[in-house]
Amino acid sequence: STLTDVNLVDLCLDVVAVFNGAYDRSIKTNIERDTIVVRANAEQLKQVFYSLIDNACKYSDDEVTVTISTDNGNVIVGVQDCGQGIPEAEQAAIFDRFYRVDKARNRENGGTGLGLAIAKAIVEVHQGKLTVSSQLNKGSTFIVVLPVVRRN
Ligand code: ATP
Repeated sequence: STLTDVNLVDLCLDVVAVFNGAYDRSIKTNIERDTIVVRANAEQLKQVFYSLIDNACKYSDDEVTVTISTDNGNVIVGVQDCGQGIPEAEQAAIFDRFYRVDKARNRENGGTGLGLAIAKAIVEVHQGKLTVSSQLNKGSTFIVVLPVVRRN
């Protein structure tokens, strides 16, 4: 298949740079040049971070922040926004295909409700996890956890 050793730090910085260059939104990040290698299909993983950052921009007006840290052989990427948040009762369903919170409210944002379902499937194919923690009217943080294969 198309699995290669991918430096997740570079991959995330590349995706952030695309948003900062192409959209009138600035994405903040704590990411410094580093080498955190995962075994991955790079195009698929980019798609995951495009979806998460795109959502963070669509569903908030304020700052979006991308962070990377490591823990216990895993790398953890967080995509945080200070936007409308997701009601607790719907936080599991947003990962289902075609599910959208409050379809009327979101209509102006277009969207199919597929982005998160695809992102979760991609992360899981990579032996990882995609989760969310969110508070209504405060914001959301989507967390991607992936196994690290090496640090240099
Ligand atoms: P697309 O498939 O184009 O991304 P979408 O944004 O509707 O469309 P998903 O990315 O799957 O689809 O997201 C599903 C739903 O989860 C969204 O419609 C929205 O209601 C909610 N959601 C996703 N991300 C956020 C976020 N950062 N803040 C608030 N709600 C969100």
